[in-house]
Amino acid sequence: MEALKERIIKDGKCLGEDVLKVDSFLNHQIDVALVRAIGEEFARIFAGQGVNKILTIEASGIPIAYATAAAMGNIPLVFAKKTAPSTMTDGFYSAEVRSFTKGTVSHVVVSEKYIGPEDKVLLIDDFLAHGEAAGGLLEICAKAGAECAGLGAVIEKKYQGGAERLRAKGLRVESLAVITSLKDGHIEFEQTR
Ligand code: 5GP
Repeated sequence: MEALKERIIKDGKCLGEDVLKVDSFLNHQIDVALVRAIGEEFARIFAGQGVNKILTIEASGIPIAYATAAAMGNIPLVFAKKTAPSTMTDGFYSAEVRSFTKGTVSHVVVSEKYIGPEDKVLLIDDFLAHGEAAGGLLEICAKAGAECAGLGAVIEKKYQGGAERLRAKGLRVESLAVITSLKDGHIEFEQTR
């Protein structure tokens, strides 16, 4: 997606070789027009697959997942929570997710009420790095008996191996911008869509 790559080049900041900061347009301040276009692109890519629900993880996946859910005909969006709230008194599905950026491990949870065997779920996230977050969401789908149509990631850092790991599990992975290196503060892209 050219507009996305141009924006990453213009406003993305490399924090060493492993982390890209996109706070000014994607996950702190949000460029609503760009995020809407991202949602439309995911809707185009995953059209005709019978997707009836979007699943993401709080917090930075939510705006992108919302735009995608709207573009797919206002289907429901469910976001996994990083801690089970006291109001979640009924059953829930959980999965362990390691964060390499924060150095933490969390148990993400989704209420049993909002995902089940009748669902065909599209996973959406802002970044795909080691594949931990998406792997956790995939595990929740499996526990719920839901089918998973694939993962839409806005930015994939290919060299961290997440896409490869998830594809090896049979998951369809589609990333709108694929980064092959952040060496020396220089952002290098793979030539894709
Ligand atoms: P993974 O679980 O694939 O290792 O990492 C994906 C999650 O970590 C995403 O939900 C995202 O919030 C965060 N993340 C991973 N890499 C980056 C990065 O380079 N920049 C930012 N801002 N977040 C990242």
